[in-house]
Amino acid sequence: MTDPVISARSLGKRFGAFMALDAIDLDVASGEIVALIGPSGCGKSTLLRCLAQLEVPDLGIVLLEGKPFGTTADGTRRQSPRTIDAIRPRIGFVFQSLNLWPHMSALDNVAKALISVRRMPAAAALQRAQSLVEQFGMAQKASRRPADLSGGERQRIAICRALAMEPAALLFDEPTSALDPELVLGVRDVLRQLAGTGIGMVIATHDLGFAKAASDRLIFLEKGRVVETGATQTTLAAPNTERLQSFIQSVTHI
Ligand code: ATP
Repeated sequence: MTDPVISARSLGKRFGAFMALDAIDLDVASGEIVALIGPSGCGKSTLLRCLAQLEVPDLGIVLLEGKPFGTTADGTRRQSPRTIDAIRPRIGFVFQSLNLWPHMSALDNVAKALISVRRMPAAAALQRAQSLVEQFGMAQKASRRPADLSGGERQRIAICRALAMEPAALLFDEPTSALDPELVLGVRDVLRQLAGTGIGMVIATHDLGFAKAASDRLIFLEKGRVVETGATQTTLAAPNTERLQSFIQSVTHI
């Protein structure tokens, strides 16, 4: 059996005395889409950030394609910051704010890390960027700056930028929060397309309707702990815990 693309074992994160993540276990298979759901402040973004080692976990370990990444189980660094930076592009992170360079064209945004991090010759980087923007229906708008694109188009460029680095896993923080409802199913289709290429994905979302439409598996977090996890459709239809049941009931639009 192949290793999960990304895993967490007993992952913990403290902010001072506050335990933001507590003993999180997670495995994401190739081509699997996992949604992190739960009330505001439950630790969704912190978990994504710890998986990508943008936040240093205090306890536990992250495994990337079966190999320890970042810190040891007691929170000391296993790899140097430089090594972590070199490995991190295997984990694409699509931030809520997208973090595109405002002064660059969409195409240059996609090519930038290939040139500056991968040291790829500019012509080859632009060629790979061009093929990605074509694949995502953005060829006509590739010369525009981010400010001259719609929210959905900007998001596609941010996804292309992460894909340019050939990630094993993609992490999305609230991918639908800035989008018109009509665009949400388009995001689901893009994620499904990516899953078909073998990328494993973790999506932190407030949007249960989106989680239902897009994910294979749900993880329901509360106060930094996993309360319930299971296949999305069956878990939403028949939650095992009263807590998830009441959370679902409190969200009216599914
Ligand atoms: P939301 O759904 O509102 O975005 P979330 O589930 O993504 O929330 P996190 O952003 O992961 O939650 O935050 C988890 C908890 O950790 C919250 O109580 C938050 O206030 C706290 N927290 C996050 N980052 C920090 C930090 N840098 N310093 C102190 N506390 C933090």
